[in-house]
Amino acid sequence: MHQLIAGRRRAGGGEAFDVTDPATGEVVEVVRLADAADVADAVAAARAAFPDWSAAPPVERSTALIRMAALLDSQADELARVETRQTGKPIRLSTGFDVPGTVDNVSFFAGAARNLEGKAAAEYSGDHTSYVRREPLGVVGSVAPWNYPLQMAAWKILPAIAAGNTIVLKPAELTPLTALMFAEAALEAGVPAGVVNVVSGTGPVAGEALIGHPDIDMVSFTGSSAVGRRVMEVASQSTGGPKRVHLELGGKAPFLVFDDGDLEAAVQGAVAAALINTGQDCTAATRAYVQRPLYDAFVSGVADVMGSVLLGEPLDERTDQGPLISLRQQERVAGFVDRARAAGAKVVRGGAVPGGALARGAYYEPTLVVDAAQDSEIVQDEVFGPVLVVLPFDGDDEGLRLANDTPYGLAASAWTRDVFRSLRATRELRAGCVWVNDHIPIISEMPHGGYKASGFGKDMSAYSFDEYTVVKHVMYDGTAAVRKDWHRTIFTGSPAPHTHPQGASDA
Ligand code: NAD
Repeated sequence: MHQLIAGRRRAGGGEAFDVTDPATGEVVEVVRLADAADVADAVAAARAAFPDWSAAPPVERSTALIRMAALLDSQADELARVETRQTGKPIRLSTGFDVPGTVDNVSFFAGAARNLEGKAAAEYSGDHTSYVRREPLGVVGSVAPWNYPLQMAAWKILPAIAAGNTIVLKPAELTPLTALMFAEAALEAGVPAGVVNVVSGTGPVAGEALIGHPDIDMVSFTGSSAVGRRVMEVASQSTGGPKRVHLELGGKAPFLVFDDGDLEAAVQGAVAAALINTGQDCTAATRAYVQRPLYDAFVSGVADVMGSVLLGEPLDERTDQGPLISLRQQERVAGFVDRARAAGAKVVRGGAVPGGALARGAYYEPTLVVDAAQDSEIVQDEVFGPVLVVLPFDGDDEGLRLANDTPYGLAASAWTRDVFRSLRATRELRAGCVWVNDHIPIISEMPHGGYKASGFGKDMSAYSFDEYTVVKHVMYDGTAAVRKDWHRTIFTGSPAPHTHPQGASDA
């Protein structure tokens, strides 16, 4: 039973759907998908839970999250195993990144829940005392992707509930299992029933029913830019809309290597950042621009290091790269590479579906492409697979211009030992995160979110509270006057009628 509504698991009213292991095609679990009635029940449960949860003292929300972090930590092995089964990601990635990152995020928001604040009060007008209340919005409808199902559940749920909202999360239909485990851990830790609800269903049915539901106050979406556009449209046209929308969308991160950079570090960094999660990472390094003097050595270095990457069974500790999420994704990635080849690009390494024991899974070889045109689709569009394109550049102006030349702006990195070059790059790269001499690490304390077609709004960090709260200006009259000074704009010349009974001046 894969719907968690009002604290209880139940089967959905929709069709049966197989969650499969992409390494083998074996069915992991059969899910009865959510239909619109399940979504309506989940929204009603979240609405009913909102008054008490939003009024709870921050310490209560924080205490539940502290317990939740410990619980998830105690379930780390099982969470990692299930995450690997449903996504095909290598177990070393699940145990070393997904699960500890999630536990850390819960701990962070346990603390942050007690640090929500508005601006200090002051007498800005002279006659009034103003202060700002930061209030939760109400019920959040959230839709998440399949690439990091556990972490995405954490990123969507935690800032929303820490700030006093309640939520209905729709994980991707391919990967609902760890989002359900996450929400159940919240319940067990003392987050009341109805605060966190999970509906497992498809985008067009459960997703649209959720974001178009008249009783949600905000939409929070992580996924592709194409679906993001549709989400915004549905949210703006729903009854009671337009709604606040927070979008974390696709990326096409540039990896900019200047000629004074550490070549060996850049080569290692590029392979790791291109292949993490089989390249299904919105911040993955996808386009390396290398200054001409280092270009040839960089290409041959990347080809060598890619050759040492071991593809294999995801639960095997030795495996470096697992399959893609599905055979459909494998076909999509292969299509990009085949079309690039046909258009004149050269595939230096990989570019094929491996045979032998891996043939039944959704595997694709680590792939290095050169000689692609800057305006070709493999340089401009998100492939979401283990594919790195390398292009040369000459001057710094050109490198920075090419790096910024896609519709996306989620992440970027600059590789240089020159402080002035790095300062310029961090200033001019139009991306929500810019690394210097590294590419990929994220941290709970720091915001994550895009520029341009990569969306708007922030996940993680205290900045995410800006998405999930509204600030209210409260203004107290401080004069006790019956006729206020500003009434001069309405009442001409007539004297002030009375003095306030308490005797304050009404001059
Ligand atoms: P997707 O856009 O296909 O799907 C994302 C979610 O939207 C899924 O839950 C899906 O069921 C749902 N959905 C699909 N159609 C919908 C509709 N009409 N209405 C409502 N919901 C709908 O993305 P994906 O393939 O699951 O994930 C990969 C994408 O996510 C990539 O583009 C990647 O860059 C992006 N991503 C971005 C971030 C970020 O933080 N910016 C993080 C992870 C993934």
